[in-house]
Amino acid sequence: TADGRHVEVVGNAGSLADTEKALKMGAAGIGLLRTEFLFLERTTAPTEAEQYDVYRPIAETMGKLPVIVRTLDVGGDKPLPYIQMQREENPFLGERGIRLCLNRPDLFRQQLRAILRASLHGNLLIMFPMVGDIEEYRQARKLLDELQAELNIPRVTAGIMIEVPSAALMADVLAKEVDFFSIGTNDLTQYTLAMDRGNPLLSARQDGLHPAVLRLIAKTIEGAHKHGKWAGICGELGSDPYAVPILIGLGIDELSVNVPSVPLVKAQIRGLKVSELRGLAQQALECSTAHEVRELVKKTLSV
Ligand code: PEP
Ligand code: MG
Repeated sequence: TADGRHVEVVGNAGSLADTEKALKMGAAGIGLLRTEFLFLERTTAPTEAEQYDVYRPIAETMGKLPVIVRTLDVGGDKPLPYIQMQREENPFLGERGIRLCLNRPDLFRQQLRAILRASLHGNLLIMFPMVGDIEEYRQARKLLDELQAELNIPRVTAGIMIEVPSAALMADVLAKEVDFFSIGTNDLTQYTLAMDRGNPLLSARQDGLHPAVLRLIAKTIEGAHKHGKWAGICGELGSDPYAVPILIGLGIDELSVNVPSVPLVKAQIRGLKVSELRGLAQQALECSTAHEVRELVKKTLSV
């Protein structure tokens, strides 16, 4: 920022090509590598070797720069033909993300082994999606620790996505054990406002600047910092020019944005002063609606 706070700007990627582009565009790393691309549109699960062959060049491309690899995040809304699943009334509230992987240890183990082996060729961190409570994290971390020992690999940093309101509310408890948080505002908004993120009738009201979502983001950052951990954002909100000043005012450490937005977000941050944003962020938390928050930012910063 103009007054010297360092905010990491990294990219969201879903392939090796995205990773290369992120590097060219000046990203300081990959804040979210969505690994679903490896699992979709095929009839059998990718083997450990196939996955390793994809993760390794990504790790090598980024070199010392961090790449946060998110473990498989699919579920009832994105079914895979080779994963047996029950029909669910509410797939977004069902077997999604980490829940699905914990129920299928073989599938999960193969992915974690491939990531761990690739981690020797770069700077990979692991992130678990859709974690709702500490037990889920502990189970995943335990499996990771076992595989590290099996492969004789040093401890890998592991964080979680904060996308479920229960996790945001319990952030100070989670931060005692979890290495970092990355807030998935796409899902966090959907679950906080009880609005399906894919429903076009609700899309205009699906705004991550809703004060209810902002309060959960504030709580997440506060919880992380209380235990010396960092918190980032990897949902769409991180590249919204109205949101960036508020997120920085709330103390966010990292913004992971779509690759084309990397230079724009960096440019915006360089023009901001944290000293002027703390008050703005606190005022945003007191607003009644997302619209009010946007008006507040417009009035204060002429965005
Ligand atoms: C999110 O939920 O904000 C997120 C980044 O994950 P995805 O969009 O892949 O669900
Ligand atoms: Mg999500």
